[in-house]
Amino acid sequence: MSLGAPWYPNCCGPNKEGVMVSIWEARRMVLENAPLLGEVEVPLAEAAGHVLAQKVASDVDLPPFHKSAMDGYAVRAEDVRDLPAVLKVAEDVPAGKFPERPLAPGKCTRVMTGAPVPEGTDLVVMVEDTEPLPDGRVRILKAPRDKTNVCPKGEDVKEGEVVLSPGHILGPPEIGLLAAVGAERVRVFRRPKVAVLATGDELVCAGERPGPGQIRDVNTYSLLALCMKRGFDAESLGIARDEPGELRERIRLGMGEADVVLVSAGVSVGDYDFVPDVLWELGVRTVFHKVAMKPGKPTVFGVYDGGVLFGLPGNPVSTIVTFLLFVDPVLRRMAGFPVGELAPLKALLDGRLVNKGDRTAIKPCLLAREGAGWRATPVESHGSADIASLSKANAFMVIGREERLELGDTVDVIPMEVGCCLLLEAGG
Ligand code: AMP
Ligand code: MG
Repeated sequence: MSLGAPWYPNCCGPNKEGVMVSIWEARRMVLENAPLLGEVEVPLAEAAGHVLAQKVASDVDLPPFHKSAMDGYAVRAEDVRDLPAVLKVAEDVPAGKFPERPLAPGKCTRVMTGAPVPEGTDLVVMVEDTEPLPDGRVRILKAPRDKTNVCPKGEDVKEGEVVLSPGHILGPPEIGLLAAVGAERVRVFRRPKVAVLATGDELVCAGERPGPGQIRDVNTYSLLALCMKRGFDAESLGIARDEPGELRERIRLGMGEADVVLVSAGVSVGDYDFVPDVLWELGVRTVFHKVAMKPGKPTVFGVYDGGVLFGLPGNPVSTIVTFLLFVDPVLRRMAGFPVGELAPLKALLDGRLVNKGDRTAIKPCLLAREGAGWRATPVESHGSADIASLSKANAFMVIGREERLELGDTVDVIPMEVGCCLLLEAGG
């Protein structure tokens, strides 16, 4: 992997000083430093959710033959000019068979939906508009006048035609199209592998009952869920104690195995926040170390030969917010998705908000449709540790420094959902 993009002065060191960047600067910096991963060939069944890295041309016409769109009778137009008409059924062609003879005057061929029609067919009469007669004849009662009920060979795709180009996101319709044109294996951009490390002496696994002074590890689970929901492989590196040696070993392991390492907690300036020093020792080149946002200030982003690393703030709400703002676009950029500027939704505020601080405030809300637009209702939250409040929210509001918003004002909102992120950045 080449990291051609510029990187910024290393600001992690024993003194832990660093420039504070705005959310928008941080976002630009992470995207500038997110390398596009290489191409891999995958079987079609595993290609969904990848970005295509090659041109794909069709090896067949679609449809591959003149095809009946109805269950009915293939006829010549002149034989059904005067109705009702009685025609002899010359042949029966279900889907999967090919007619043995062309259509002769005064005769018809029984065809099923998807079956090839015989040469000489002008139109297919629906079975509902016919009446079977004894000794292999049929009475035609009505014939279509403004359509043929025949799909001409190659009308959808011509043999040799390029149906998909590099950069196309492979969703269910594209996977179906690739199957139709015989692309059983395709080259796609590799998706980043993520390693998640929780840090903190106070943490125990979700399956354990916390002892005195302990809490359960929330971030490993929410970060794995965020990655997996977006289709990225993520693995846990467990919980590291607040001890430089252990942190160094676990982070080194993650850097060796993954393209993106997410370390939660221990990234601030407290006595037990060893992560910045350890990153320095491991040769991670820090791009920024603080973001002017609340929550989420102690967010570290760094690059190393082979990947990128985030040190995310430990409080569970901060971890999710910083993932959505910075990690998510990096993962998608690395996998070849188009990622643009952050363009929050505009919603009507159903409440009042005041941000007296000098950092951008991010607060949970419930986003709902309101006419043609959106309404954002603030969700009560006790702060960045209050993970319970997030289960009542589906988005975050962005409130500028020293900004005051009244009921009915327009507020910027970032949804938590994946689909919305793509939508927001569609122009990028
Ligand atoms: P720190 O950045 O290490 O000072 O942690 C900030 C806060 O986040 C502390 O209250 C930690 O107990 C809490 N915290 C850190 N890691 C986790 C985690 N994995 N799950 C839940 N809370 C955490
Ligand atoms: Mg800690």
